[in-house]
Amino acid sequence: MNAILAAVEQTSGEHGMATAFATASYVIAAALFVLSLKWLSAPSTARRGNLAGEIGMTLAILGALVQHDIISYRWIITGFVVGAAAGAPMAIWMRMTAVPQRTALSHAFGALAAALVGTAHYYLYDLHNAPPTSVVMGFLCLEVLLGGLTFTGSLMAFGKLQEILPTRPIVFKNQNVFNLSILGAAIISAVLLTIHPQWSWLFPILLVLAVTFGVLLIIPIGGADMPTVIALLNSYAGLSASMMGFVLNSKLLIIAGALDGASGFILSVIMCRAMNRSFTNVLFGAFGQVQTSAAGAGEKKAVKSAQADEVAQILGAAQNVIVIPGYGMAVAQAQHKVRELYDQLTKRGVNVKFAIHPVAGRMPGHMNVLLAEAEIPYDRLVEMDDINGEFPQCDVALVIGANDVVNPAARHDKSSPIYGMPILNADKAKTVVAIKRSMNPGFAGIDNELYTLDRTLMLFGDAKAVISATARELAGSNGH
Ligand code: NAP
Repeated sequence: MNAILAAVEQTSGEHGMATAFATASYVIAAALFVLSLKWLSAPSTARRGNLAGEIGMTLAILGALVQHDIISYRWIITGFVVGAAAGAPMAIWMRMTAVPQRTALSHAFGALAAALVGTAHYYLYDLHNAPPTSVVMGFLCLEVLLGGLTFTGSLMAFGKLQEILPTRPIVFKNQNVFNLSILGAAIISAVLLTIHPQWSWLFPILLVLAVTFGVLLIIPIGGADMPTVIALLNSYAGLSASMMGFVLNSKLLIIAGALDGASGFILSVIMCRAMNRSFTNVLFGAFGQVQTSAAGAGEKKAVKSAQADEVAQILGAAQNVIVIPGYGMAVAQAQHKVRELYDQLTKRGVNVKFAIHPVAGRMPGHMNVLLAEAEIPYDRLVEMDDINGEFPQCDVALVIGANDVVNPAARHDKSSPIYGMPILNADKAKTVVAIKRSMNPGFAGIDNELYTLDRTLMLFGDAKAVISATARELAGSNGH
């Protein structure tokens, strides 16, 4: 690489060619990042979006490597090898249901990198003879503050999701006041450092306050709200990278960080809306601490259960079936068996659609990704608002490991923790078949009256096993 650079420099006489290459690659990379986000928003173009993002990032890295005055590539290559050795196995072998915690780890390390770059940059200044300007120092402090709190916050989120740490909210008296005082102290330190960059004794205090606030921010939040928090931490990590762009004078970092920050923020807003929760409720509501509800307290109603052969008969005789996948389908990795069932039903002329709730599963788009993996046609996937009106005409609503997203209590039980959350109207279908292993509650920890309706049949068992058995029964009666 050094040899190539030397050759480039010799040809141009100066850094001209390398700078031209870097500028061109940055412009193309920025455009690709924007297109990537656009394409990622629809299942049919998501793969293209991923590819565009990857090409953009490769160009951005190449641009950075040729442009700056890098004395040695040894540490860069070492970092690359160590990072790839840690990242590749995670990407290849980590289960899809563990993606939220994997994402939390990525944010933690991205934010740590931003905080470390900011710290190194600060200590490289000759603070007495040539201190940074207030503008640069302001961005640098924000970079370190956001990077530090996102680092520890994301590690805590990882620990809760991986259940290394207690998933229940940990609360203490006057917690919000205490936490906000720590944040306030961090902001005051940042402002003072912006005005007096040479007060270097204050810099470690800013760092300690930032990382402490990251821990305090996450401990009162229940494991259940972690996916939303992760989207928010994603936003902070992006903003931190954007600030780093101002400090390093890298326009591409400013653009990429801003895109990351804005998309993470929008995603967390979408998730809050889909759960009918406010930001403050997610961040300060200690949701999941007292998971009791009127539904859980009442006397238990009897449920009707059925076997796979009976369900196969009911499905085979239907004209319109709406499948409602949820977290249980992801846990069971049942998507390929769902595809087999879909094939058997469509072969019989049954009209099968999939109803997608925005927060079904444990991360946004969880169901879309799994169904796309099983190659179920995109046009069969219908968003909640578009399909809810179709349930009264639907013969069978087949609920596969979904629970909270079909709980009618969200519509009428004001004491329920999910009251107000928009749900899929499975209870309006002529017949409901619900697949799960037991009568255990879902994520919100509450009972579901859908399972005790007169027109509901429970098909108990692991989703993969029972769907496979149902598809086999249908194949048998289809003559295969
Ligand atoms: P859910 O309410 O968590 O229910 C999942 C159900 O799947 C459970 O009742 C469980 O019952 C069943 N299950 C688990 N493993 C199974 C298996 N191997 N086979 C068959 N069934 C299995 O799931 P959901 O309806 O998808 O709702 C998602 C919840 O997550 C919502 O409360 C949402 O607010 C929350 N959330 C989602 C996101 C997101 O981005 N998607 C983010 C934050 C929060 P058994 O144990 O009896 O089998």
